[in-house]
Amino acid sequence: MCTDYVCGHCQFRVESRDYGNLYLMDAAGKRHYYCLPNGPGEEMRLYQRLTGAGEDYAGLEAYYQSHGGNEGDYLCMSCGRQTRRDPARDALRCTGCKRMTLLHSAELEGKPCPKCRQGVFTETFGSIS
Ligand SMILES: [Zn+2]
Ligand SMILES: [Zn+2]
Repeated sequence: MCTDYVCGHCQFRVESRDYGNLYLMDAAGKRHYYCLPNGPGEEMRLYQRLTGAGEDYAGLEAYYQSHGGNEGDYLCMSCGRQTRRDPARDALRCTGCKRMTLLHSAELEGKPCPKCRQGVFTETFGSIS
């Protein structure tokens, strides 16, 4: 579920999670994250906490449509900053260098490393953390 991409030159490592970073927004638009591998109950508990609703699966489904999303892991190919973006809601602009050079971490295979600008990323498996 978790793949790392490592630069062959400077060992700069970027994590890529298949399932992304799921969230529900509260009424103020603040994002509260939850993790599907922790079980579906966590999403329901978060929904209940944010809305004061009961265990209402249809309500959760509707709430997710209007207030939920999934942020992917992105890497800025200009400055190397790692960030999260929901491409359905967020502009893919780097908050560090202001360039539109964010690339989804799942697409890093064979791409040049923005830290050292000498190596390229290759996929590695087996890391848990
Ligand atoms: Zn590198
Ligand atoms: Zn940047």
